[in-house]
Parts: sequence; structure tokens; C-alpha cells
Amino acid sequence: MTTFSLDDSSVFVIIGSGAGGGVLSRELASRGHKVVCLEAGPRLTLGDVVNDETEMFNKLTWLDRRMATGKPDPNFPVWGCKTVGGTTMHWTGACPRFEPHEMRALSTYGEMPDATLVDWPVTPEEMADWYDKAETRMGVTGTQGYPHLPPGNNYKVLEAGARKCGYTDMDTHNMAINSIDRDGRPHCRQLGFCTSGCAVGAKWSTLYTEIPAAEETGNFELRPGCMVTGLEVGEDGRIASVTYLSDGKSYTQKARAVSVAGNVVETTRLLLNNRSQRHPDGLANSSGLVGRNYMRHFTIQVMGVMPGKVHFYRQTHLAGVVRDERAHRPERGFAGGFLISTVPFTPEVLAKNMLTGGWGRDLTQVLDKYEYLAGMLLTGEDPPQLDNRITLHPEARDGYGLPVPVIHYEDHPNTIAMKDYAWKAGRRIYEAMGAEQVIEMGDYIPATHNMGTARMGEDPATSVCNPFGRTHDVANLFVSDGSLFPTAGGCNPTLTIVALAMRQAQHIDGELKAGRL
Ligand SMILES: Cc1cc2nc3c(=O)[nH]c(=O)nc-3n(C[C@H](O)[C@H](O)[C@H](O)COP(=O)(O)OP(=O)(O)OC[C@H]3O[C@@H](n4cnc5c(N)ncnc54)[C@H](O)[C@@H]3O)c2cc1C
Ligand code: SF4
Repeated sequence: MTTFSLDDSSVFVIIGSGAGGGVLSRELASRGHKVVCLEAGPRLTLGDVVNDETEMFNKLTWLDRRMATGKPDPNFPVWGCKTVGGTTMHWTGACPRFEPHEMRALSTYGEMPDATLVDWPVTPEEMADWYDKAETRMGVTGTQGYPHLPPGNNYKVLEAGARKCGYTDMDTHNMAINSIDRDGRPHCRQLGFCTSGCAVGAKWSTLYTEIPAAEETGNFELRPGCMVTGLEVGEDGRIASVTYLSDGKSYTQKARAVSVAGNVVETTRLLLNNRSQRHPDGLANSSGLVGRNYMRHFTIQVMGVMPGKVHFYRQTHLAGVVRDERAHRPERGFAGGFLISTVPFTPEVLAKNMLTGGWGRDLTQVLDKYEYLAGMLLTGEDPPQLDNRITLHPEARDGYGLPVPVIHYEDHPNTIAMKDYAWKAGRRIYEAMGAEQVIEMGDYIPATHNMGTARMGEDPATSVCNPFGRTHDVANLFVSDGSLFPTAGGCNPTLTIVALAMRQAQHIDGELKAGRL
């Protein structure tokens, strides 16, 4: 096992071992660079994963105190993980690419009141190559020659209803879930416990893909249970070291360069909380944009009580998608679009969220029909807004003694219009299949897609990071998660996080070799 000294100032320190940090770790280590990855959570094995959503929620989820104002649940506004592998343990594996129009949001949608739309500083053409590499790495089904997953019943209902409604672009989705044995891992068993962490390892998680591959290079040390609290700036204006807590003790690791990949809320907190004379408003925050333009997608659901049994829980959660509404068609009354995917729920989640305030026969007659339920998730683009932001509470502290992050989010009118349309589109699909009852469920899921608080761009006055995720203000500080996204697109973000991390690694490699970092 490789270990590095705390005094070794030649190491590249990566904070977080999830999609962004895990991939960057492997990419840099395999190019011969010395990497230390500091991860707040523990290192589990596949043997620790059980098919029990409640038990795994408690084992994996980031449960430190957070607050919210506006729309999100004030007690649990964001759903992510604190564990080696990060939220790639909980995630469901859907891996669509951003569409070109979504990366050119300002040019395509035009100016939108109260939104800070921009075009991405990376072209769709350049991203296409990195998407190819990311899909190959993750084994994304329906791409790069990997077969699609087989259709489950929930998808068959969705597909048939969608065709009756005139939709044509649908399949069992592009999933980072093995449809064949590959990469030393088995194919998916369709057990349907994807958010518990896949007990057989068919679903891509950095815990058992990128992290072990980085370790095999001999250039990488993972330090689990290490919560980073400080980033220290040296006389030269560069980050000189990183301070972290482990087992109640504080350690300081010297660093050549640092990347933060803590999944938006924690990335933002680290930047804002490390103030100094040189950086009075937080690290890399001369633009005042750190924490602003927070995006999270809307995720609403529609459930149908179907005439026959569906058993919607017996398959991968999101393995089924209708893409027709993803396009930008302003005649619908909003800019951008959304995806319609399959989703199942446990009876417990349904009881809590299906009929808000529901009680008695209204509720039980639907739950009695659990085996007849079909379910869909509608996920759509939300425009960036300056006032949707993450700040630090002036007094409240969490168990580490750090200021509690406060997440403020309100729907933009464009989002409200898109949601109204999406609910109706979903309802039509199940009604076309003869549903006895259709239930439109609210936007109650905590944010699983977090984006935007350290947006990348060419201009230091209007962005936090450059187009490679390097902060404009601190030459050896990078961001490697969804915080970089200038706009949210209408699809799940992780493939893009991985593609950007691979692209960033190539850039860092070049800079390190040229002695510019
Ligand atoms: C239930 C669920 C389903 C999802 N399904 C999908 C899907 O189908 N498709 C999709 O694209 N996305 C999905 N997502 C989102 C996806 O999981 C995230 O986009 C992705 O994991 C983000 O990668 P990341 O590297 O930014 O953060 P993470 O993967 O969350 O990793 C961040 C890591 O940083 C660590 N960390 C944070 N702060 C510190 C600190 N100060 N010190 C040390 N370590 C720290 C955390 O412990 C964590 O391990 C889903 C999310 C959830 C919750
Ligand atoms: S359905 Fe497939 S990916 Fe999901 S938990 Fe089961 S084996 Fe893993």
C-alpha cells in the first residue's frame, strides 16, 4: 500500500472520492502523478451492502446538519453520500449526454428574465470525445457497443403508453450498469435495490472501479475518514496545504495542487469558509459567484394504477427513458426540456409522499394496489439564478465545528411552466394505457443533482473557474464536480462530471509536466 508523508509537498490532493474525485484520482495516478485522496466517509466493501434501503440510507448518506430556505425541505435539502465512492454508491446509474442546445443555453433560449443563462466554455463537439471516453470507462449501456439492459415491466408500460401518445425516441436508457459481465464485475441481476448500493457490483461506483484502479498504479493513497476543514494559502498565493480531521485529531497535508470534489454543497462550503486577508470573501471568490447559481433540476413523479400487475420494483430503477420532450420547443411555453424515466418506490416512500396529507381509504386503496403501480420520474432543466445560492450560517455549527451550509432555492417561472406541462404529459401516458387512477406526485425528493456554484467560464468577472475547472484566483486550486456546470441541461449530470474530470486530468497532466503547476 502506497503512503505519502504529510510533509510531501509534491502530492496532488483530491478532496472527495465520488464521481469527480474518484475519476480524477485514477486519471492522475495512472499518468504517474502522486495523489492523496481525502475522503470524509468510511471505506465499505461490497460485503457491507445489503438489499435494504433504510439500512443503506443510514450507512451511506451525508447526514450532517444542513439548512434550507425557500422550496427545499429545511431538514434534508440535499441527498448525497459520505462514504468512499461518494454518491456513486446511492445513484441509479442513468448516463445521458448533454444535448448541444443545452450547452449553448443562452444562444438557444435567448435572454431569460431573472436567469443567468450562459453558453458553456466547452463546445459540444469537444465534449463528444470526452463523452466517448467516459462511456467506455463506465460501460454505459447503449453506447460504445455495450448492449442495452433488458426491458422490465415498468418500462414496457411506459413505452407502450408513450407510443400511443406519439412519442418515438425511447429505450432502456444509457446506464452505467453492466448489461454483460465486464471490468471484473457481473451483469445486472435486476434486483431493484440500486439506491441501496448494488450488492453485486454491477452498477458503476468509484468504490470498486476507479479507487482500486488508482491504487494499482502505486501512485495513490486513499485516506478514508478524513474530513477536510481547511485550505491554507501560502505567501505565493497558492494553496500550500490542506487540513483535515480524522478520529478527532487534526492533520495538515502539504500539497502541490488541490482539487475539491465534495459534491457542490461541501465544495461551496470549503471555498466560502476559507477566508483570509487575500481572499476576504472566501477562496476563489473575487467574482462573488461562489455559492450562487445553484441548480438542482426538478424531479417530479407520476404514478399509474394499471389494470394488470406491473411489479415495478423488480428491475433497475431508471432503466427506461422517453426522450422526445428533451428538445427545445418554445411553443410548449418554456425553454429547454425534460426526460421521462421509469422509477419504482417502496411502500414506505409512497405512504409518506404519494398523497400529501393523504389518509384513510384514499391512501390505502392505492397502496393495496402496489403490485399494479407503474411509476415515472420527470427530470427537467432549471435555469441558473443568482439568488439560488448556498451560504454559510453565521452561528450554527455542525459536529466538525464548521458553519452549517444554508441552501436557498426557488423555482424559476420557466421551471414552473415546464413542470405543469410535464405532469400532464406523464398523466397522458398512463391514461393511454387504461390506468384506473393517475397520481401526480410533487417535487418532494431532496436534490440529488447538484450543480452550478463555481461555474466555469473564460471571464474571471463572471465565472469562478476557467474552462478546465481551475479557479481563476488561485493557480493551483481546481474544482472537479457539478459546481462547474454553467447551466443544468435537462438530464442527469454524472456522465458529464466524469467526462469533465477526464478532460481536466489531461489538462493538469500537461500543466504538471510543463512545470506550470
Ligand atoms: C438517489 C440518487 C440517485 C441518483 N441517480 C443518478 C443517476 O441516475 N444519474 C446521474 O447522473 N446522477 C445521479 N445521481 C447524482 C450522482 O450521484 C451525483 O451527480 C454524483 O455522485 C456527484 O459526484 P461528485 O463527485 O460531485 O460527488 P459525490 O459522488 O457525492 O462525492 C463527493 C465525496 O466527497 C466527500 N466529501 C465532501 N466534503 C468533504 C470534505 N470536506 N472532506 C473530505 N471528503 C469530503 C463526500 O463524503 C463524498 O464521498 C443520483 C444521486 C442520488 C442521491
Ligand atoms: S438492479 Fe442491477 S444495478 Fe440495481 S442493484 Fe440490482 S443488480 Fe445492481
